[in-house]
Amino acid sequence: MSAPEREHESPAERLFFALWPDDALRRQLTQCRDALAARAGGRPVSAENLHLTLAFLGRTDGRQRACVEAMADALHCPPFALLLNRSGYWPRPRVLWIGPAVMPEALIRLAAALRSGAEGCGLKLDASPYRAHITLLRKLARPAQAAACPPLNWPVDRFVLVRSRTLPEGVEYEVVREWGLGRG
Ligand code: ATP
Ligand code: MG
Repeated sequence: MSAPEREHESPAERLFFALWPDDALRRQLTQCRDALAARAGGRPVSAENLHLTLAFLGRTDGRQRACVEAMADALHCPPFALLLNRSGYWPRPRVLWIGPAVMPEALIRLAAALRSGAEGCGLKLDASPYRAHITLLRKLARPAQAAACPPLNWPVDRFVLVRSRTLPEGVEYEVVREWGLGRG
């Protein structure tokens, strides 16, 4: 079987592009999450799952995955600073999140480039507007302000492709590829 055929045959995976915190930021996010959970209740997102989605691809077969990886290889986006200084509450899923009060232009461009690149690979992405956020708590008992969290500065110099699997014990994310920003 040729490589393209093999790629086509491989089973579909649920994939998304994301910004992936390093260990130090992950610790700060976890502290913020726990301070909020003490006030608001809810189900905490596990420390290893904390992330900021750039583009959700959904079910992706092997050929589409090869296409989006080649698309990401060819992207040229600069590194940028992301200030996580606002929180929000979405009542329908009852999630509490933190994110930037102001979206950096480079983040908007990166997310848009990944989105349109993925669409060029035949994937159909959700039409709703992009809202950068890190979900900290789900199924909140009561809405809460995120005043317990100091603003966090995230120097973003890479993005990742993540495989998401739903297991009986909860969702599991695995980083399958990583790209640096500002190469070349
Ligand atoms: P679960 O759905 O099992 O509760 P999850 O939402 O964490 O877990 P996924 O559904 O795989 O896991 O989603 C991975 C990431 O992509 C999450 O950040 C999620 O908010 C985001 N996401 C999921 N579906 C969409 C969508 N249709 N549009 C935009 N982002 C999405
Ligand atoms: Mg989901």
